Amino acid sequence: MTLFRPPAEAYSLIIRIMDGCPWNQCTFCGMYKDASCRFQSMDEIEASISSARETDPQAKRIFLADGDVMALSHKKLKAVLETLNTRFPRLARVNVYANGHSILQKSPTELYELKALKLNTLYMGLESGHEETLRMAKKRETAEEMIEAGQRAQAAGLKMSVMILIGLGGIKNTLLHSAATAAALNRMQPRLLSALRVIPIPGTELYDQEQSGTFTQLTEFQALEELRKTIQGLDLESTVFRANHSSNILPMEGRFPKDRGRLVEELASLLASGTLDEKSPGPPPVSL
Ligand code: SF4
Repeated sequence: MTLFRPPAEAYSLIIRIMDGCPWNQCTFCGMYKDASCRFQSMDEIEASISSARETDPQAKRIFLADGDVMALSHKKLKAVLETLNTRFPRLARVNVYANGHSILQKSPTELYELKALKLNTLYMGLESGHEETLRMAKKRETAEEMIEAGQRAQAAGLKMSVMILIGLGGIKNTLLHSAATAAALNRMQPRLLSALRVIPIPGTELYDQEQSGTFTQLTEFQALEELRKTIQGLDLESTVFRANHSSNILPMEGRFPKDRGRLVEELASLLASGTLDEKSPGPPPVSL
């Protein structure tokens, strides 16, 4: 079974403590199509932790896989973190993928308890702040729920690393998707923000929709214009921004608020250069 992790976790010790994603319905997502969701027993988790300890007993950073580790019950997640703290004496932080729904299943007090046990960064796919786009993409949560989840987690001292998907609204909703996404991020104030471009992958519902003509991918030009508008709408007080995933047309990174002007200018200059494909999405990324 393929193991997925955020690019920023390349140097973390990865320990799989569940399989797949409990939702597994988003139309654009092909990550866990071949995996049934399964929560491992505490005995299995302890065995995985023991074997990971043999690989790197001095690990400081651990990423727990798979798709939504916050979906574990509070009691179990707490027990996992306690075990990690005992078995890895130099442990500094534990990071996980977390969906809005599963974050909201935890009370503020429970989130504080997890933070005290070195849970650090929650990677959450907001994808869009536009409700119609989220419903079309079969996202489980509403934008309002994800905003609340992000705010609640950060109030407990956890860091939110939020992903958005450029082009998810297609041509029809590009303006609404971009404006509502910027507005949602402004309310959430995530510490980290990644913008990826949506690429319909074979085997996903979005790919079938594109084939049947019910979803139209943005052209290369339109995708960068949507990113420019989204960045222009952002009013973030302290956020590290990245758009350097292989799906992105122009790799970019910066810090808000200081780099917002530069990022907008870089995009405006490329949009004015006449070099972008205005008829198609351009060549697909070599790998995703
Ligand atoms: S995008 Fe996230 S929540 Fe949606 S199916 Fe994929 S892993 Fe699950």
